[in-house]
Amino acid sequence: ETMNSLMLNTDGVQIPQLGFGVFQVPAGETEQLVATALRAGYRHVDTAAAYGNEEGVGRAVRAAERPRHKLFVTTKLWNADHTRAEEAFDESLARLGLDYVDLFLIHWPVPKQDRYVQAWRAMEKIYRDGRAKAIGTSNFTIPALTRLMEETDIIPCINQVELHPYFQQRELRAFHEANGILTEAWGPLGQGKGLLSDPALAVLSSKYCKTPAQIVLRWHLQLGNVVIPKSVTPSRIAENIDVFDFILDTEDMAAIGALNRGQRLGADPDTFN
Ligand code: NAD
Repeated sequence: ETMNSLMLNTDGVQIPQLGFGVFQVPAGETEQLVATALRAGYRHVDTAAAYGNEEGVGRAVRAAERPRHKLFVTTKLWNADHTRAEEAFDESLARLGLDYVDLFLIHWPVPKQDRYVQAWRAMEKIYRDGRAKAIGTSNFTIPALTRLMEETDIIPCINQVELHPYFQQRELRAFHEANGILTEAWGPLGQGKGLLSDPALAVLSSKYCKTPAQIVLRWHLQLGNVVIPKSVTPSRIAENIDVFDFILDTEDMAAIGALNRGQRLGADPDTFN
């Protein structure tokens, strides 16, 4: 098995199931690290206006050996820009130095602002203009997705949410599946906050001769999640994509399933920000 792609509900668009996330990657290191990831075989990069590193992502993508149409670039609309989504999108494209992105997401719903329906209307226009090949959401809850589907025309193709073995989002994943929305996992490795030293993962690490990070990434892939691990360490960047040569068996998938604590590491979408 090599790099797998999943079909989005958007006509003909596919997303490489594993990508490189660049949250908290310093702007000055981003171009080099994304270039390292692309050389290692990644074809998909996840950035955001709020990460302050779109310029570096764009430079690496434009300099890559693989042609642009074989790469997949995601960026996101920041919370302060829900009422000026088209302008903010143009600013992101200019920073990236690209003429389209593959996927544009609303970063957070910010319910207290109550402007995400307006933002989505603008995203629909950006999609129809072809400047984003697909549009989706991030950190949307079932009520927020339901409202979008009731009040707008296009169903989000994907919802990028916190998801890892300690926070498995079973109800939200089932809702996505029932509505043809892909699930994308952020913080897939638990953000370096202890998940990878869980004893259950050590057992599986020995059994499969794979690192705990590789075991967790494989679990995501087998669940059908799109996954975007971040690392600034070249050896780990390579390690995190070396997950297409083994399969976790049913009992081991269940053993990871049993680690769920229903506890967020990051912000709560109902109150952020
Ligand atoms: P992650 O779960 O990918 O964890 C990254 C951390 O895990 C690294 O900093 C490092 O400490 C550790 N790590 C990485 N590879 C390792 C390995 N092989 N072995 C041991 N430790 C390893 O967390 P993240 O960066 O928060 O999430 C991934 C991506 O998701 C981000 O870069 C970003 O693109 C996206 N994201 C999106 C949102 C959102 O609101 N939409 C929020 C957070 C992150």
